Amino acid sequence: TMNAFASSNSPLTREAMEPFWLPMTPNRQFKSKPRIFVGAEGMHYVTDDNRRILDGMAGLWCVNAGHAQRRIVEAIQAQAAKLDFVSSFQMSHPAAFELARRITEIAPAGLDHVFFTNSGSEAVDTALKIARGYHRAHGDASRIRFISRAKAYHGMGWGGLSVSGIVRHRRDFGPLLPEVDHLPHTHNPEHAAFSRGQPQWGAHLADELSKLLQVHDPSTIAAVIVEPVTGSGGVLPPPVGYLERLRKICDQHGILLIFDEVITGFGRLGAAFGANAFGVTPDIITCAKGMTNAAVPMGGVIASGKVYDALMQGPDNAIELFHGYTYSAHPLACAAGLAALDVYQDLGLFERARRLAPVWENHAHGLRDLPHVIDIRNIGLLAAIDLKPREGAPGARGSECANRCYEDGILIRGSGDTLLISPPLIITEEQIADIFAAIRRALTGIS
Ligand code: PLP
Repeated sequence: TMNAFASSNSPLTREAMEPFWLPMTPNRQFKSKPRIFVGAEGMHYVTDDNRRILDGMAGLWCVNAGHAQRRIVEAIQAQAAKLDFVSSFQMSHPAAFELARRITEIAPAGLDHVFFTNSGSEAVDTALKIARGYHRAHGDASRIRFISRAKAYHGMGWGGLSVSGIVRHRRDFGPLLPEVDHLPHTHNPEHAAFSRGQPQWGAHLADELSKLLQVHDPSTIAAVIVEPVTGSGGVLPPPVGYLERLRKICDQHGILLIFDEVITGFGRLGAAFGANAFGVTPDIITCAKGMTNAAVPMGGVIASGKVYDALMQGPDNAIELFHGYTYSAHPLACAAGLAALDVYQDLGLFERARRLAPVWENHAHGLRDLPHVIDIRNIGLLAAIDLKPREGAPGARGSECANRCYEDGILIRGSGDTLLISPPLIITEEQIADIFAAIRRALTGIS
């Protein structure tokens, strides 16, 4: 209808909603029971019926400094007025160089070059291409295979989907890249249920990589890609010693190690990157989300000098890597990225996340004795609560619980029967208590 959008308080009609095909959403159900946000500030969203919702997801694991940070807003506005767009194909602009420098400053030593993309998915596909390109530049063109891990989420591009460890995401779209194998995931309720932070049990699961090397000749393997903490797949912190072992095995066999830090980057674990938090340095990091506090889409691949230098070959006037996007290093994204880094630094948000992590952990594990709860995991400002699936209705408890929280003014994410929580790093101790109190009410209210 003509006035479907006339007032923020009048709900959208079904007809008005029809043209928008929502991503990763049950569209028909959503359009009969929509969730519409019209504003956001700090820790809160504002809905079209004027409710304030505490954002327990930092948007989608990305608004690390909270919503509408003034400095970021102003930086984007100023940049749009000054230089709206310039490509970075054989030209560029100052903020791109500055942002790359600032990111390499906070990344682990040795990771000193940044390739800009527009999303995490593009960052993953870019990293996989760089890994193959790196080996080919070494005359090692037989290294084409990728090893990833069960339950991994690496975005929606063909490369990321090929290494995905979530079957449902891949099922309808094959054939994908065939040269991929998977490590087992590290979730083991029998040995490590209700672990706080990194489980003590499970480092030996990294040795499964050695077993895969008996199936696939190591000289065929380009890279191992893992999230330091599995995110969307259910918040699975790495067992103590696990990432170190992966690093060692990769080194022994000339295999590149890629950390997909799209969620863990920019403070989520109380350090700039998971690599810093765990003290394990990969050859390549993929990132996005918190890079700009999500105010403008942006992703990136941070590569070691070894990787970069190997690709800087051939005549000076030749393009070294035939890869890039129209919007790589978009001026608005770079401006947002620089302002986001300033905000992270000035508010000390990475340290804040580290300081709050034990408080977060105690609140999360305080739900342990509630009905239906079968596991709780946490690290940094991430948490997951597994619910026992209701007989004959897998996923029902998870979504009912998340919906009740929403009605109660708290946004968390239900993924099957797992509740996922990942708040902005500006969260207060009181708001942490509010989130887990809402989950407690929800859990005691459902069957
Ligand atoms: N990699 C990881 C680890 C992610 O968590 C995500 C998104 O959640 C992606 C890649 C994909 O990022 P995007 O949705 O920006 O393409």
